[in-house]
Amino acid sequence: MIKHQLIVVGGGLAGMTAAVIAAKKGIDVGVVSLTHPVRSHSTAAQGGINAALKNHPKGKEDSWERHAFDTVKGADYLADQDAVEIYAKMAPDIVRMTEHWGVPYSRFEDGSIAQRPFGGAAFPRTAFAADRTGHALMHAAFEQGVKYGVKVYEDRPVVRLVVRDKQVKGVIALNLVTGELEAYMADAVIITTGGYGQVFAKTTNTIHNTGFGMAIAFWTGVPLKDMEFVQFHPTTLYGTNLLISEAARGEGGYLINNKGERFMKKYAPEKMELGPRDIVARAIQTEINEGRGFENEYVHLDLRHLGKEKILKRLPQIRELALKFAGVDMIYEPVPIQPGQHYSMGGIDTDKDAKTIIKGLYAAGEAACVSVHGANRLGGNSLLECVVFGKIAGENAAKYIKEEKPDNSDAEKAINEELEDAKKWIEGLRNANGPNDPFEILYTLKNTMTQKVGVFRKEEDLKEAVETIRELKRKFYEEGIYLKNRDKCFNRELERVIYLQGMLDIAECIAYGALERKESRGAHYRVDYPKRDDKNWLKHSLYWFQGYGKPVKMDFKPVTITKWQPQERKY
Ligand SMILES: Cc1cc2nc3c(=O)[nH]c(=O)nc-3n(C[C@H](O)[C@H](O)[C@H](O)COP(=O)(O)OP(=O)(O)OC[C@H]3O[C@@H](n4cnc5c(N)ncnc54)[C@H](O)[C@@H]3O)c2cc1C
Repeated sequence: MIKHQLIVVGGGLAGMTAAVIAAKKGIDVGVVSLTHPVRSHSTAAQGGINAALKNHPKGKEDSWERHAFDTVKGADYLADQDAVEIYAKMAPDIVRMTEHWGVPYSRFEDGSIAQRPFGGAAFPRTAFAADRTGHALMHAAFEQGVKYGVKVYEDRPVVRLVVRDKQVKGVIALNLVTGELEAYMADAVIITTGGYGQVFAKTTNTIHNTGFGMAIAFWTGVPLKDMEFVQFHPTTLYGTNLLISEAARGEGGYLINNKGERFMKKYAPEKMELGPRDIVARAIQTEINEGRGFENEYVHLDLRHLGKEKILKRLPQIRELALKFAGVDMIYEPVPIQPGQHYSMGGIDTDKDAKTIIKGLYAAGEAACVSVHGANRLGGNSLLECVVFGKIAGENAAKYIKEEKPDNSDAEKAINEELEDAKKWIEGLRNANGPNDPFEILYTLKNTMTQKVGVFRKEEDLKEAVETIRELKRKFYEEGIYLKNRDKCFNRELERVIYLQGMLDIAECIAYGALERKESRGAHYRVDYPKRDDKNWLKHSLYWFQGYGKPVKMDFKPVTITKWQPQERKY
């Protein structure tokens, strides 16, 4: 059995930040991760990280209060305002901390960190390293991990969390190289496994973003929160749904329909292309649905007027992506784009201290729901969340370990019991010989989510989605599935089937929550309930596990409001 004081599950930006901060406080930290840290989805982040640095000539009046207000308004008032205040206040120092880690931020002429405008923000507030901000942050965070002696275990997806009497004891991971399960004991655990984009057919997320880390917490009785709020990014490349960063619009790009119109003037006359993502995604989808798109599938993102020099300097990566994956050179041609799943506003229910309801268990980053993004996240606010709440989780876990000295005398016994149980489960899956092809279940699930639980939602579609998902769960659990590959070493088929089990529950939470929430708020748009309804629905949704294969249960909890009373949202 491997022992560390703290285990961080997942090596993305939130995970490495938490690990570095705890290690700096003298804690012995192990990161158990599906991929090597720099292969996490955070590395793909393009556009930037928000903070009221006031470096931009048009941003001198910016402040943390204004950043907090924009975040709360962007969130359609579902964010917890106490958490947003902490977050926006910490932002400038967080950017400076990462600068000291070595992030090569782009600069203004005077040497200060450059900032660009992003959607839903009153001032240009997004700091960036060209359009490779996540790459730069992730490498710097990993280097800090090396410096402070963080031990990384890669190619080891965590498949179980061990909890006894509402206290965390450790985790069980599958070593993909040997095919064996490994046990890890710890006083505290932080889950930072990222989002669930792979639950949808069209997503900007990597293949690793299955939401499985949320599922393992859910299965031990931790509630998930606000799962019906799924961000659809307005501009994903037609064909592959690779992300074309909001930075393209931040630098001045236009959205154009088949009539040659900049149609955003109808939907957000003041902010135009820089409206918040939910509004821009709905505008694009409306243009397509009403016949003003191209081939009934996409609209154009036109950057030609920016000129070659600016595109090569500020947007080199997305130019390369469009060139390689769509054969379009944005210097000379408009880029075909459509909305696609991008970000999970919901996740593991945590408070502003990154704590869950289990003692010693924390969560941060996209896997968690604090909530600072409420019903809709603003661009540039997620990288910030990873570092802010990664840091808070690392600090609080360190404090808990040092000050509360958790009693883990029964941990070894508990972990060994769980290990034996998990072995039976994994062997059962590896040798499964039931009638159903798990990949048929997976693709039916993904297509159902994209077709029925997308940008525009309605009762009959959502009912159908929930029924389909419950039927898929019945096939998986009652009828059973079969595996063709029974190898141990890098059995990718087995790995997918393990995640599928979590994805079925995650998808059910999203679809069921969307069906239950009879209003439109942020990214959750019901054509049959097009208005926000604060009287009945200004509350967080919570989802509870009822048993494997059983329907999820839902209840609610209040939203924290400090300074900003809900108002109508106009841009
Ligand atoms: C293409 C793209 C561009 C983006 N651009 C921006 C941007 O410019 N600005 C911004 O603010 N936000 C952006 N976002 C959002 C932001 O990048 C993410 O929300 C954020 O990076 C998530 O970080 P994370 O640390 O929570 O998770 P991730 O970076 O997804 O890392 C998750 C980690 O967990 C590991 N893992 C997964 N499952 C398991 C398991 N079961 N056991 C163990 N380990 C596991 C993975 O291997 C990985 O190491 C972008 C997102 C995408 C997809």
